[in-house]
Amino acid sequence: MKRIKKNSSTPVGYDLDQGVTQSMLCNFIKCRRAAALALNRWGSPAPRRATQFGSLFHELLQEHYRGAGKKLPPSPELTFKNVAQSWERKALEAGDKTEDIQGDLACAKALFPSYVDRWRKNDEKKRWVEVEQVFDFMFRHGHKRFQQRIRGKIDGIYEAKDGTIWILETKTASQINEETLSLALTFDFQCQFYVVAVEEKLQRKVSGILYNIIRKPSIGRGADKTSDAYVQLIKNDIASRPDFYFTRFELAFSSKQMARFRDELSLKLQDFQNWWLGDLPTYRNEFACQAKWNCEYLPVCACGGDPKQAGFKQSKTLFSELLEDA
Ligand code: SF4
Repeated sequence: MKRIKKNSSTPVGYDLDQGVTQSMLCNFIKCRRAAALALNRWGSPAPRRATQFGSLFHELLQEHYRGAGKKLPPSPELTFKNVAQSWERKALEAGDKTEDIQGDLACAKALFPSYVDRWRKNDEKKRWVEVEQVFDFMFRHGHKRFQQRIRGKIDGIYEAKDGTIWILETKTASQINEETLSLALTFDFQCQFYVVAVEEKLQRKVSGILYNIIRKPSIGRGADKTSDAYVQLIKNDIASRPDFYFTRFELAFSSKQMARFRDELSLKLQDFQNWWLGDLPTYRNEFACQAKWNCEYLPVCACGGDPKQAGFKQSKTLFSELLEDA
């Protein structure tokens, strides 16, 4: 899909052929300046603490569900031991503080075996089709056959006992408003994006998403996070209120909902392509700078827009989250 760009306000190191991910499209919709910086591969030099516990737990779930079909699946304790070592090394290399790393490891050590126990019966009924696999397809839509390459990665796809196909999507957070979350999830962009992706990949109807929420413990501030006593403190709290720590929602999407989503996805992708071509301008969206997580590029915009001046580094790889060991 080589085309001539009309101006240089949009990313120079990116071509539409490289595809669009869900997070890239979200970036574009929220703030075109953020999308241009991300597509030019600018990244913050500071480690992103807010997501580190999430990355550790995702690695644990990946190992756990990959072993689920085996005759002798590893115990949660062994899975934790295997994953924790390599994750700790990566976190140290990324420049995380030892205290933060130890806190995340202690939380996961307490939480992970309880998670496995909490959902054991429920999970035994699933047949895993894929765990943490990438997707990559050409989204085609409408009479004029609009098309755009779409890429991404999904936590897990499974077949339920009744033969229907579902997607597992896991979120880790310390603060969750379940009331607003369940409303927002009924038309959540990421969930429906994944349904489209899996339907394209498997060429099968997807019934919906199993939204798997794990609440990160936030107790025992000031405690020695390397101690067994700290892990036990968290375990006791989990045992006293497991439903607080582990929640699942089944989100079913009807064919009508998905048809509407595909129409809107096509419009959003057309805007993205027109922006990349220079038909739509790049401007900052000051309303998107501070949300649940601040925009990564806040230091860039705060110092006039030069990522180098803000100490940002340009990576060699775009979409590094899609690499095998990401
Ligand atoms: S800090 Fe605000 S204006 Fe700057 S890139 Fe981020 S969202 Fe856009």
